[in-house]
Amino acid sequence: MEMEQLVALCKRRGFLFQSSEIYGGLNGFWDYGPLGVELKRNVREAWWHDMVTAHNELKVADGAPSTYEMTGLDCTIIMHPQVWKCSGHHDLFCDYMVDCRESKKRYRHDQIYGRWVEARGERFFVTTQTLGEEGLNETEQKALKFLKLRTKNADELTWDGPLVCLTEVHDFTYVLGPDAKSLGTLTPPREFNLMFKTTIGALGGPEDAAFLRPETAQGIFVNFKNVVDSTRVKLPFGIAQIGKSFRNEITPRNFTFRSREFEQMEIEFFCRPEEAPAWYKYWRDLRFKWYLDLGLAEGRLQLRDHDADELSHYSTGTADIEYAFPFMAENEFGELEGVAHRGDFDLRSHMEGKLMRKDGELAVETDEDGKPKHRGSGRDLSYFDAESKERFVPHVIEPSAGADRAALAFLCEAYVEDEVPNDKGEMTTRSLMKFHPRLAPYKAAVFPLVRKDGMPEIAQEIYGELKPKFNVFYDEKSAVGRRYRRQDEIGTPFCITVDGQTMEDGTVTIRDRDTLEQWRIKKEECGEEIERRMQS
Ligand code: ATP
Repeated sequence: MEMEQLVALCKRRGFLFQSSEIYGGLNGFWDYGPLGVELKRNVREAWWHDMVTAHNELKVADGAPSTYEMTGLDCTIIMHPQVWKCSGHHDLFCDYMVDCRESKKRYRHDQIYGRWVEARGERFFVTTQTLGEEGLNETEQKALKFLKLRTKNADELTWDGPLVCLTEVHDFTYVLGPDAKSLGTLTPPREFNLMFKTTIGALGGPEDAAFLRPETAQGIFVNFKNVVDSTRVKLPFGIAQIGKSFRNEITPRNFTFRSREFEQMEIEFFCRPEEAPAWYKYWRDLRFKWYLDLGLAEGRLQLRDHDADELSHYSTGTADIEYAFPFMAENEFGELEGVAHRGDFDLRSHMEGKLMRKDGELAVETDEDGKPKHRGSGRDLSYFDAESKERFVPHVIEPSAGADRAALAFLCEAYVEDEVPNDKGEMTTRSLMKFHPRLAPYKAAVFPLVRKDGMPEIAQEIYGELKPKFNVFYDEKSAVGRRYRRQDEIGTPFCITVDGQTMEDGTVTIRDRDTLEQWRIKKEECGEEIERRMQS
């Protein structure tokens, strides 16, 4: 599937619109339309239901070392600025950007790739933003163009090594930028903090500066004590939160995949230090299975363990759940969720204000005695285990997912085209959204076959009965075949049609979106039938 087809369908049928479109749009911001809002709400609700409310703490869950409790929070987007100092975001949440003096474009340093080439006495690094076969082709075309050579002269080019990241090149004098015509137009990389700044109150001095949260996790850590004190939760337990996060991404792209405003679904799971490795494995497997159960194909989903050099100094294990989005190069995957074993790093940072870089060096400014200037809250965030009479700082497993990336993966996975017979028996192509019924914006559509003979009245009656149970659509316009196609295109799993036979025996036809199978049931049983099929 081409990404352009999906983007066009999303706009045409009201899944996603560019934010502020009538003013030319705003890069990195997206609005969910009438169908998109239902899809994303279903993603969030499936996550909250499966991870939080439906979790049965009286039973040991499959593969879990013991039973556990789950609870939730909803914290503010703007928090005390000290939160971000102690979490590390103030000093360390940066990307490196590179500007092109010629094209005036800006890039993320780690998103430019390239390879060295030699020809006609010149040696230079030719860049691309694409990996894989496509990237290789692009660099070849660019090198030929730069040297004013034709495609048939390609064997004059001597390539030195594979595609590597620009971060491996230390001097940009002989670098040909992704959109440049001459060498050496890229500036040295500069650090750029990704947090959006804002000001609290009317006076707006430097002391009133605040930030929009770049992740929801910190709200959970700073409320750890409140949750323990106000509920009777005991270790191990998890706190879940869904909410908006903001990152001033240097190069937002790939539809909603990298946005500047997005929604996260995060869990901080607190446990005894010695049990953390087993819980890490549990969450990693559970979260991977969640995406499979909701319909992502096994062949397009992968669980990738970070290599030792990718890990933060405090983490003994991190795995990304990744999906082969259609806009990625072949064999490339994009992150849907990160599951990290974070040790006691976060709670300790908020207690003590100690903050280390990835290599273990102290990251924050220190005073003359070598003590960190950004102090933690000074509050005791340890946990007292009443049974063993021990006090310790719990370890944390963090499954951190993006609601927008999940919704995008479900959209990409659902989009298919197949060949089906039309009313005249001719084979035609239909576009279909094969959403899992739990995620489908509408669960069913109700049609009268024709707009007469009492059929609309019965169809409206069925519609009225189903409406309080789940989202259902009513349509009596145009030929029934076209109405089916419209529902297929937005992923409605079942269509109910009232026809001549309904008037005789009170039965209606139900049609399955994927198999096109049709069968009859009593009109009073539509709700039950659909609910049963949605669960199977
Ligand atoms: P990436 O490497 O792609 O920037 P990340 O590792 O920085 O992602 P995390 O900080 O682990 O991401 O955030 C957890 C989840 O939040 C990600 O797995 C992703 O689903 C979502 N997310 C992060 N940044 C964005 C973004 N700019 N747009 C949409 N979703 C995002």
